[in-house]
Amino acid sequence: MGCRELLLTVCVLASSCTPRAVEAPAETPDRIFVSIGSDDWGRWSQHGPLWPNLETREWFGNEGLWLSGGELSKTTAETDDDLRELWALIEAVNEGQPPASRVVLTPFWIVAGPDFEAMRDAGCLDGAGHCEYKELWWHNSSGGLDRPPFERGDLRALYQEGFARGLWHPEYHGRSHFDTAAWAAYLAEGDHITALYFEAGLTYYHYGRLNASSRSFHSIHSEYLSDDGQFQKGPAQLTAWTHEGLRAFEAFWGYASRVTAMPCHYGGPEMGGVFAAAGVAGVEGEEKGRGLLPGLRNSPRLMFDPAFESPRAWEDVLAHTQREAERLVAASLRAPGAWDGARGAGFLTLQWHSLNALAATFAPEEAAGLRGLFRRMVAWLRGRWGDALVFVTASELQQVTSPHPAPPVPARAPPSRRR
Ligand SMILES: [Zn+2]
Repeated sequence: MGCRELLLTVCVLASSCTPRAVEAPAETPDRIFVSIGSDDWGRWSQHGPLWPNLETREWFGNEGLWLSGGELSKTTAETDDDLRELWALIEAVNEGQPPASRVVLTPFWIVAGPDFEAMRDAGCLDGAGHCEYKELWWHNSSGGLDRPPFERGDLRALYQEGFARGLWHPEYHGRSHFDTAAWAAYLAEGDHITALYFEAGLTYYHYGRLNASSRSFHSIHSEYLSDDGQFQKGPAQLTAWTHEGLRAFEAFWGYASRVTAMPCHYGGPEMGGVFAAAGVAGVEGEEKGRGLLPGLRNSPRLMFDPAFESPRAWEDVLAHTQREAERLVAASLRAPGAWDGARGAGFLTLQWHSLNALAATFAPEEAAGLRGLFRRMVAWLRGRWGDALVFVTASELQQVTSPHPAPPVPARAPPSRRR
């Protein structure tokens, strides 16, 4: 018997019970559904460089090639050790737990990336004014992580192992995680910075760089919505680009993705129709609205990302995430129509980026510290909500929060009838 049914029974028996007591939100919810997503798995490029190791990061910093301001990022890509450590971490937090309390991570997956070798062979660095983006895919190759500068080997069996063992359940993140048209054009025009990064097997520019003297602007952010507007894809290109990416996801994982999160939560509202037409039912984005889309079931995320902060701030990140989790769960309990008739259910969508589980740019004790923070966050969730807590995947969360999904918005208006 759930809390709500118990309250109703007591009301029938007690003459002092008022209807208002029945209507009050449940203070102890029947269920708190929590999903833990993790963006950026599978990629070997994005709008900013993914350092293969600390030495490369240091070299670019020393050469003055980090033009984005502040400290160099620590963004990197996974190794086979990272994946094995992640499986061990999930198994450790799940040990002795009943099924509903076991974490199954939802990695948001990048299905493809640039084929540097093919682009070099095709003359992208020749200064001949021509460069075409060429792609490598996970569903029919061992991807860019198997090549220089990463040399991670073929990780496909390990990725699949995580799914087969019920440790993670991937969904679609994107196809490139950067603006491929802008990047190829910068290479074609001989942009020195783009070429230097290309030589090292890396992509750059971040969120936009305006050269104060030449007034030139460069940005390879982002996949769906171009910062450098001359490269913005039109509706038909966006549709084809996204549908091909989703097909590649299905070809690799064996099922169609039903939830997405756009790279950097960045894309125009028309992406709601593009995804809905391809069978995607839900999207995760920022609570303030960035990355949420019309026509889809929207899940606001709570970021739990200590890896992007200095180790000195990690305890504060954990405490802040816990405070915010309290607030968001309380808000979900008050949300009208969150789940038909189930006032006692709360929801939380956590986002723990892949960088929290990657070791190539961290000292070993830092990487262990990041795994420890994940363990403590999971333990805190269990302690806070006890038997009411149910860990779900992103697609399961969409299902329990959406018994009546919103109708899809068409990508384009249907053609008018000819008379
Ligand atoms: Zn991302």
